[in-house]
Amino acid sequence: MNNSFELKKRYGTCSKDCYGSCVFIGEWNDQAPEKKLIIAKPLKEHPFTRGFFCPKLNNREKMLYHSQRIKNPLIRTGVKGKNSFTSVSLEEALNLISTQLTTIKEKYKPSSIIAAYYAGNSGLISMYSSFRFFRKLGATITSEGTCNEAGCFALERMFGNYSTTNPFQIANPNNRLIVVWGSNLADRNNHAYFLVKKAIRNGSKLIVVNPVRTKLAECADLVLQPFPGTDFLIAKYVLNKLVNSGTYDQNFLSQHVNNYTNLVDKVEKIDEDKIFHLTGLNSENLHEFLNLLIDNKQRTLFIAGFGPQKYFYGGRNLNSIALIQVFLGNFGYQGSGFLFSQSGFNRDFKGPIIDYITNSDQISQSRRIPLINLGSSLHSNQYKMLFVYNVNPVSSLPNQSILEKSLLREDLYTVVLDMFLNETTKFADIVIPVKFDLETDDLITPYFIPGISINQGGPCPYPECSSNYEFFQQLAGKIGWNDNSIFQETQEDIFKKCCGLLPKVIQEDLRTKGYYIPFDFNDVPFNNSIFPTSNGKIQIHQPDIEIFNQNLDILLQRKEDEFYLLSQAHKYFIHSQIGPLHEEYSSIFGTIFINPMDVKSLCLTPDQKVLVSNKYGEAKYILGENSDLKPGTALIYSGIPFAHTDYKNVNIFTPEMSEESGLSGAYFSTIVRITKI
Ligand code: SF4
Repeated sequence: MNNSFELKKRYGTCSKDCYGSCVFIGEWNDQAPEKKLIIAKPLKEHPFTRGFFCPKLNNREKMLYHSQRIKNPLIRTGVKGKNSFTSVSLEEALNLISTQLTTIKEKYKPSSIIAAYYAGNSGLISMYSSFRFFRKLGATITSEGTCNEAGCFALERMFGNYSTTNPFQIANPNNRLIVVWGSNLADRNNHAYFLVKKAIRNGSKLIVVNPVRTKLAECADLVLQPFPGTDFLIAKYVLNKLVNSGTYDQNFLSQHVNNYTNLVDKVEKIDEDKIFHLTGLNSENLHEFLNLLIDNKQRTLFIAGFGPQKYFYGGRNLNSIALIQVFLGNFGYQGSGFLFSQSGFNRDFKGPIIDYITNSDQISQSRRIPLINLGSSLHSNQYKMLFVYNVNPVSSLPNQSILEKSLLREDLYTVVLDMFLNETTKFADIVIPVKFDLETDDLITPYFIPGISINQGGPCPYPECSSNYEFFQQLAGKIGWNDNSIFQETQEDIFKKCCGLLPKVIQEDLRTKGYYIPFDFNDVPFNNSIFPTSNGKIQIHQPDIEIFNQNLDILLQRKEDEFYLLSQAHKYFIHSQIGPLHEEYSSIFGTIFINPMDVKSLCLTPDQKVLVSNKYGEAKYILGENSDLKPGTALIYSGIPFAHTDYKNVNIFTPEMSEESGLSGAYFSTIVRITKI
C-alpha cells in the first residue's frame, strides 16, 4: 500500500432513513483511482453517535465501492418488470429523457409528469433541490410520506409541536422510569437502546409495551405484549384508574390542559373484560403498569416509536398514549416527558434553508399528490412520466398490487435514480446512477436528534454518477434552461449559501464539529409546560376523545382464524435500502413468522410452504416460528432492498387507505389468513 498520499478529513452524516443520523469523520485519499474513502470513524464526542455505528451500515466503505453499484446509466431492453438493461452514456440518457419529457409536456400537460421522492437520502439538498426543476416545469410532486407524518400531525395538534422533549432525558439522573412503547430500540435505534441501558444501570425501571417481545424486554421490569393497534385501550384503562382513584395530576390539568373534563367523563366508565379480551392483557399486568406509573410521577419518560401510529387511527392512537403522561403531569421535569420525533425543534432555522434550496420565492407552487397514494394515482392514466429518487416505492409503499400494475403501463415513461438495482428499477425505462450521500455536500436535519449536521462531500470515482441536483441541473440544460439562474449554482454553492443562512452559532458548530445540537444534556424543553399552542395549553380535541369508543379499527373485528400482520424492518436493513451489504439475510423476506403455538394449532410445520392471503392479495411464503410474537400475530419483514423475484413483498397485504390524516401509511391495519398449500 502506498503511504505517501495526503489524507483528507471530512465531516459526514449518515443520511439514511434512520434514528441514528450518525456523525463521523471520513478519511479520504482523493488521489486513489477508486477507493477514495479509506475509513469513516463515528464521532466519539457526539452526544448521540458516541463513537459507534449500527451493524446495518458500519462498513460504508464497502457499500461505496461495491461491485454491484450502478456506474453508468441503463436503458431498458426487455419488458417492464425484469431489470434487463444495457448501459448507455449519461449524455445519451439525458438526450432520451429530455426528448420524452418535452414530448409529454407538450402533448399532455406538464402536471402529467410526477416526481416521487422520500427520505432514502435525507440530505436537504438531495431531497429538495430538484423542486427547482419540477416546479419550473409545472410537474406534480409527491407530498408527505410513509413513516411518522401522521404521528407528528397528531402530536402537533395536541402540543403545538410534535417535539416536546429531547433524547438526552433518557439518561438524566432524575429519571426513575422509562416506558418504551411501540419501538424496537435494539434493532432500529441502537444509540437510544444503550442510553436506556445506562439509565437502568443508574437505577431507572423499564417498561416495554410492544406486540413483539423485543430484545429490550430482556432487561425490563415489566413487559406488556398487547395485540397490535390496541394501544388506545391500554390508555383508556390507565386513565380510568387514574381518574377514579384520584391519582391523576389535577393541578397540572387545570393549569396546562384544555378540554380535559370531557375526557375525564369519557373514561370514567370502562368495560374491563372487553379491554382484557381486545388487548390480550390481564388485570395483573395492567395493574403493575399502573402502579409503576403512579409511584414514579414526574420522573417518568415515554419513548414512543412510530409503530402505534401506523394504523388507520394511528395519530389518535399515539395521542391516547401521550394522554397518560398528560394526566400524570409528567412534563417540564428532567428525565420526564414524551419522546417522539425531534425535527420539530429545527423548524426555525430549517425553513429559510428549504426556501433557498427549492427557490420557493421565484417559482410557483406545484400540484402535489400524497406519496402513499402513488399506485392509485398512476393507475388513472392521467400521468405519463415518472421520476423516482430517494425512494424505492415498489418495496416500501402499501397497496403493491395496484402500484405494480400501474408501473407496468407501457404509456408511462419511468426514470429511476438509484445506486443499486432494486424492485423499483425493474419498472424503469432508464436508470440513472447516483452518488452516495457522502460524495455530495449536504445538510441533514435528523429526526431523533434535535439540530443539524453536515456532509462535506468527497470525490466520486465514477464520472457518470451524479447527485440528484447535478442530474436535474444537466437535464435543465438539455431542455433549454441553460441560462436560467436557478440552475447555475453548483451543489457546493447551494451548500455554502445554506450554511450562511444559519445563525452564527450554528455555522460555527458545523464548521468546527460537523454538527449542532440546540440542547445541553440537562436542558428540558418547555420546562414551564407552556406549549406553542394558541393559548399555551395542551389541547385535547374531540377526535382524541372519540378514539376511546371501541371498534374503530377493522383490527378489532379480527376473526379467530385470522392474524394481525406486522411488517417491520429487519435489523440488518434500513427499510428498502442497502441490500448488497447484507445479502446473506435475503431469504428472511420470504418467510412469514408466527408463534409456535399458532403453528401447532394450524396443524402446520415450520419450513413448509403456506398460502398467505387477504382481500388485497395472496402469495406463498415459508412458515417460520418466532416465540417473540404474540399468538394471533404474524410478521413478514418489510423493505426488500434487492431486485428479487423469489418473494412477494409484504406490501401486497397492506391497505390502500392511508392513516386517517392522509399523511402516511396505515401499514398495520391489516389481517391475513394462513393456509396449507
Ligand atoms: S443506519 Fe442509522 S445507526 Fe446505522 S450508521 Fe446510519 S444513522 Fe447510524
